[in-house]
Amino acid sequence: MSHASRAADFLKDDARTDWHNKSLWHVRSKRDALIQHIPEWEAIRQLGSDIKDNVLSNLDVYLEQFEARAKANGVIVHWAADAAEHNEIVHSILEKHKVDRIVKSKSMLTEECHLNPYLEERGIEVIDTDLGERIIQMKNEPPSHIVMPAIHLKKEEIGQLFHEQLNTEKGASDPQYLTEAARQHLREKFLAAKAAITGVNFGIAETGGVVVCTNEGNADMGVHLAPVQIHCMGIEKLIPRAEHLAVFTRLLGRSATGQPITVYTSHHHRPKPGGEMHVVIVDNGRTEQLGREDFRNSLKCIRCGACMNTCPIYRRSGGHSYDHTIPGPIGSILSPGKDLKKHKDLPFASTLCGSCSDVCPVKIDIHEQLYKWRQIVSSEGHMETSKKLPLAGAGNVLSRGGLYNFMGKAARTALKLAPRAMVYNRFNAWGKSRELPEVPEESFKEWYAKNRKENQN
Ligand code: SF4
Repeated sequence: MSHASRAADFLKDDARTDWHNKSLWHVRSKRDALIQHIPEWEAIRQLGSDIKDNVLSNLDVYLEQFEARAKANGVIVHWAADAAEHNEIVHSILEKHKVDRIVKSKSMLTEECHLNPYLEERGIEVIDTDLGERIIQMKNEPPSHIVMPAIHLKKEEIGQLFHEQLNTEKGASDPQYLTEAARQHLREKFLAAKAAITGVNFGIAETGGVVVCTNEGNADMGVHLAPVQIHCMGIEKLIPRAEHLAVFTRLLGRSATGQPITVYTSHHHRPKPGGEMHVVIVDNGRTEQLGREDFRNSLKCIRCGACMNTCPIYRRSGGHSYDHTIPGPIGSILSPGKDLKKHKDLPFASTLCGSCSDVCPVKIDIHEQLYKWRQIVSSEGHMETSKKLPLAGAGNVLSRGGLYNFMGKAARTALKLAPRAMVYNRFNAWGKSRELPEVPEESFKEWYAKNRKENQN
């Protein structure tokens, strides 16, 4: 299925679409309101972008520095070339410690590697402990947003789910009541877990430590209670020095949810007494992306989700319509690098309005990369005929002044005379929920020439 057909499914529920759109816009508005109070916001964005540029240009150096410092702190460091290796490494650690149940805090990397099914197939119980993640895990769905994984669900649906699986009162949908039920349920899991897995927001090359940002404290609880802690980190997550962290923590919380800072910003530098700490450093296609000159700076992403919250397509099509671990604008520039044929339609899931690039805290030129992917999709022969033919026709008309004028005139006349059914029919998806503006008597060019003449007289 294409993005458009999955989006069409999502759009069948008008009320959900409207509510999804408004909820995400609310988060975007909170972000806007908060950054008004930071006069140096643009300077911090530039600094964040520059630091990440430096990291990407010297990644090999920082990775080795990180590894050496982490090892000196007593951390066991592993390298995984791809998802399969990442999963094998994590499994071998758990096997060595005879672990049959783990708690995991939100990690898009482990989603990308499909770690949960891999471990479950090998008899290990995996419990996601972020509330949103736990909800979608119980529903057996992937996350639809990288920061708010269950944003597509209504509280009534969550109430029903909890009633079925956690035995809460039937019909109860009060968020506080449901959160308390999840808290009690998760508490037991935390206490029983023999290992904890977290993602990594930032790895500090200078100190060899990792930093995990959450709003629920679930990563900390897991790591502090379980004897074995495993942190899974993409190679691009590094920052050079501890002093750089403040730049990113200021950018992250504000951009993600419109809060000054995430509630928990936890530093893990060494194993706790009697414990074991592992960091698994994962490539899984990132080096390839680094080698693509036009797309390398997509690796600067700090996974704040702001580009999703602002995107008019994402807000009205839902995260699942992208069929990729990372949805939305950033997902649409990362996914074609993984599998161009499979994700060929995602660079087109955009109006190219540029709002994603405007809000991105590390200044990734997202909409320009979307446009470049479109050109690659076309030049590599993956463009659908239904797009190719009209675009070729439009290219012909737009590149010839005389033809453009003629077609404009013909279209104005045809639109006036044509019966409504000829314009608004099943072939005109655009017209399904929109009315064309009134057809003008003349083109802008004609209007401009006439008015300019009148003004000159
Ligand atoms: S691309 Fe930018 S805005 Fe989007 S998630 Fe990444 S850092 Fe945030």
